[in-house]
Amino acid sequence: MRLIVIGGDAAGMSAASQARKRRGQADLQILTFEKGDYTSYSACGIPYWIGGLVDGPDELIARDPAAFHDAGIEVRTGHEVTGIDLDARTVTVRDLAAGREVREGFDELVYATGASPVRPPWARTTAGGVFGVQTLGDGAAVNAWLETTPKPETAVVIGAGYIGVEMAEAFARRGLRVALIERAEQPMSTVDPDMGALVAESIRKIGIDLRTGVTVQGLETAGGRISAVVTDSGTLPADIVVLGLGVRPNSALAEAAGIALGASGGLVPDLRQRVGDGVWAAGDCTEVLNLVTGRRMYVPLGTHANKQGRVAGINIGGGYATFPGIVGTGITKICDLEVARTGLSSKEAEAAGYRFVTASVDSTNRAGYFPGAVPMTVKVIAEQDTGLLLGAQIVGRTEAAKRIDAFAVAIWNRMTVTEMTALDLGYAPPYAPVWDPVLIAARKAGEAL
Ligand SMILES: Cc1cc2nc3c(=O)[nH]c(=O)nc-3n(C[C@H](O)[C@H](O)[C@H](O)COP(=O)(O)OP(=O)(O)OC[C@H]3O[C@@H](n4cnc5c(N)ncnc54)[C@H](O)[C@@H]3O)c2cc1C
Repeated sequence: MRLIVIGGDAAGMSAASQARKRRGQADLQILTFEKGDYTSYSACGIPYWIGGLVDGPDELIARDPAAFHDAGIEVRTGHEVTGIDLDARTVTVRDLAAGREVREGFDELVYATGASPVRPPWARTTAGGVFGVQTLGDGAAVNAWLETTPKPETAVVIGAGYIGVEMAEAFARRGLRVALIERAEQPMSTVDPDMGALVAESIRKIGIDLRTGVTVQGLETAGGRISAVVTDSGTLPADIVVLGLGVRPNSALAEAAGIALGASGGLVPDLRQRVGDGVWAAGDCTEVLNLVTGRRMYVPLGTHANKQGRVAGINIGGGYATFPGIVGTGITKICDLEVARTGLSSKEAEAAGYRFVTASVDSTNRAGYFPGAVPMTVKVIAEQDTGLLLGAQIVGRTEAAKRIDAFAVAIWNRMTVTEMTALDLGYAPPYAPVWDPVLIAARKAGEAL
């Protein structure tokens, strides 16, 4: 039996590792093709590497091809799969250095090609200095550009989602003057406008020139390099530009092979991550089921990619595992401001047709009198008639964001806000006020029903 894995990062290598764990080498040969230079890397760590908070790229790699070889998994980096023939059960692979193509047969196939940054027509320039940040190779390219002569002084990040915000902070840490442009009226539009306003205030406080409600119209270049970003409210000088406009699933190969895609363009695996007979898919190239709305959606996150890859690998290895779906938990930080969300935002709850109430509380992370107590805002969204917890958002400083996990577990278990109020959460003055902000917010939402 031979397993071929396309894509050597979170989803693909989780699948390969789990399959190997369950089936010996005599039983299953595993061959992975990765078009880049790295395997099993943390793309999530790229902004912190560029910002100088962590070393890289080696430190961001969990396992390199040599380690996989020792574990009985062959990886060919610099090899791009360019075609899949499901009837013949072969893939066509291009050795990028040699420029040669070969065909390789498979019994089982894992499709884990990830996603690519959205690049609108105006951003398709051959000039240097315009980057999408998705792979470790992209991170290395950004770092190399920052170290070129003449050294960049101004950075423009387009799109203030979590990757844009993290990259803006990274450039600010590197001493660049940074503009962050967002078409919406707030950064991080995955949270409600009132919470987004708190994020905007913090971004501006650290000296980033955040411009919301602004649309980019084009790029200007000079001498083969990016020189400025043209917007509907002025032109901004730019020695480097990062596109944080979201990502799209790399699903073209699958589509060409006749594998069905969902509305987002992602593959649509079943509960066991299967998309066909002996064909599996996982990670950023797939859609996931939102357990709150019951609808499929595209949520490209590493936390899902790792779990989905693991599930695929267990099933390939002869075990049984499922990936039920997600509740929409996301977490990030901008300098010392922590931002978290789970479930549905008000806008999403409205779009899903819910009647709902919201409640916000301002509290602290520790007992008010305890050293290090700092403010935190918690917002809860609950269904009007049932009190079912639909969503929660947190903006705060120390020890704020990970409190979202209590809400995520409550949503997963379909709890009402009134039931949440009775939760036995930990309390001691160094860790929480006697009523944790999570409990106060749930109680307030219950009172608003
Ligand atoms: C800057 C940044 C910060 C992030 N922060 C977070 C975070 O804090 N939390 C979180 O949960 N997620 C985060 N993510 C998202 C997370 O990194 C991704 O969800 C995760 O990497 C997806 O894993 P994957 O294996 O599905 O895809 P990828 O990591 O994209 O890997 C796919 C691999 O497939 C290869 N490939 C593609 N096509 C082919 C082909 N035809 N042939 C051979 N190889 C191919 C690519 O080169 C790539 O290496 C972040 C992402 C970025 C970019």
